[in-house]
Amino acid sequence: MVFVPGYGLAVAQAQHALSELAKLLQANGTEVSYAIHPVAGRMPGHMNVLLAEADVPYEQLVEMDAINPEFPRTDVVIVLGANDVVNPDAKTDSTSPLYGMPVLEVDQARQVFVVKRSLGAGYAGIRNALFELPQTAMLFGDAKAVLNGLLSELRELGVGRVKAAA
Ligand code: NDP
Repeated sequence: MVFVPGYGLAVAQAQHALSELAKLLQANGTEVSYAIHPVAGRMPGHMNVLLAEADVPYEQLVEMDAINPEFPRTDVVIVLGANDVVNPDAKTDSTSPLYGMPVLEVDQARQVFVVKRSLGAGYAGIRNALFELPQTAMLFGDAKAVLNGLLSELRELGVGRVKAAA
């Protein structure tokens, strides 16, 4: 499973909830990493700082050039408050303002969940074709609220408990 943090994760201050969720899934046997786009957020290094603050292990942060070849063998991508940095039009639509900008190729993964509050645009102000792909499911809500909801449900189900204790 690959998490893709973006500007919205920072706005929601959801980094701690994300770190908790990742730990729970790891304890359940899931291979977890974080895809770091060099301009995700609003300043260079924004996501690295944000995730370091939440004690995410440095070795789980994978830069764009290293993670892109991994997406075709990734079961699940969860995009959290990122938009422009995962827009596939940047690769395929020469009329897009993002055309030519390197992006995280999450559309290559088996299943993509996008967590954001609406179908609203990101910094570039344009639509995102990722949201309309058959393998994408939109999960609307504030990133922190959604992650805390997921955490509660997984804890209720006992996910991570047995293996973590073993
Ligand atoms: P974007 O700005 O493209 O998208 C952020 C998304 O976060 C929005 O679409 C918004 O959707 C969502 N969001 C906002 N608040 C929340 C919330 N509380 N919970 C969940 N989602 C939320 O972010 P990216 O990180 O993908 O891209 C960064 C953009 O900024 C790029 O275009 C980049 O070029 C640009 N930029 C980067 C700089 C840098 O140095 N890093 C500097 C200046 C610009 P919704 O409203 O639907 O929730």
